[in-house]
Amino acid sequence: EVSLEPPKIQRLEESVVNRIAAGEVIQRPVSAVKELVENSLDANSTSINVVVKDGGLKLIQVSDDGHGIRYEDLAILCERHTTSKLSKYEDLQSIKSMGFRGEALASMTYVGHVTVTTITKGQLHGYRVSYRDGLMEQEPKPCAAVKGTQIMVENLFYNMIARKKTLQNSSDDYTKIVDLLSRLAIHHINVGFSCRKHGAARADVHSVTTSSRLDSIRTVYGVSVARSLMNIEASDNDPSTSVFKMDGFISDSNYVAKKATMVLFINDRLVECSALKRAIEIVYTATLPKASKPFIYMSIVLPSEHVDVNVHPTKREVSLLNQEIIVEKIQSAVELKLRQSNESVTYQEQT
Ligand code: ADP
Ligand code: MG
Repeated sequence: EVSLEPPKIQRLEESVVNRIAAGEVIQRPVSAVKELVENSLDANSTSINVVVKDGGLKLIQVSDDGHGIRYEDLAILCERHTTSKLSKYEDLQSIKSMGFRGEALASMTYVGHVTVTTITKGQLHGYRVSYRDGLMEQEPKPCAAVKGTQIMVENLFYNMIARKKTLQNSSDDYTKIVDLLSRLAIHHINVGFSCRKHGAARADVHSVTTSSRLDSIRTVYGVSVARSLMNIEASDNDPSTSVFKMDGFISDSNYVAKKATMVLFINDRLVECSALKRAIEIVYTATLPKASKPFIYMSIVLPSEHVDVNVHPTKREVSLLNQEIIVEKIQSAVELKLRQSNESVTYQEQT
């Protein structure tokens, strides 16, 4: 017999609430790396170095040469909803920084052990301090430090058994981390990135600052990718249809790959847009059947009030005003470019 007694509603303990929320922000090791590297970018770093052990489950260490963190801020640094980037809701509309929610570091302390070493300009020494569940474990200790901040996350998901089990195949996340840093490196060409496995002599991503995007793609993705790329641009400046500017590189008929690579930045945020990806792949299949798995890098810039960055907890997706029109315009630009390049190839072959 079913009981008609309603179950009692209870308030969850704060630590439970925080751990549940943290599990959403930090879904896997690569999400922690993304948050840490974005913080380094927000701190105006020119060099960002990542070290990973056991696919990020044992250790993720991100070192930068950015502006550092003030001693006075260390006490609340890893509390939930503490940020230097946003003060009122309206700021979201014009936000330039990658972060704004003040949740990433806090989340990491609820599902791992976080140690921060940082030094600000003009200081003789830095400070090191460890955090658990949002709080400092002890007073910050003075220590030797070079410019910037180093954040170490150890034993990620030590308190989430199921999550840890599903992530046991750690080489998988290392691949994702290398992929993430490769993408960031070809967009932020004024920043040098490196990523290596703990103890490894060789870095798996190593970019140097350059003024040429193509050089950067060559360094990160290799000569054969860079050799088959064509520059592409598209734009619209009609408020009744769409307002955007796109600049990028797309592969030509010489590029053959098992799967498509689409590196997309919208207002400098690394995002996914399945509609755009699909639209471009359709054009490749129709125009260059042999090279139907393209390499695409695109940077789209729109007025910030046309982009909603707050639709996804990991900020992986954004929603755009007039997305369909923008996708169509970019699709036509790609089609035109592929046709032209195909014609010139055919012409060369004939003569
Ligand atoms: P958010 O990036 O949304 O502000 P985070 O939890 O990622 O939230 O970081 C909290 C704050 O810590 C940031 O607003 C920033 O002031 C500071 N911070 C984090 N990482 C760094 C870093 N590498 N260099 C300088 N400041 C940092
Ligand atoms: Mg952040």
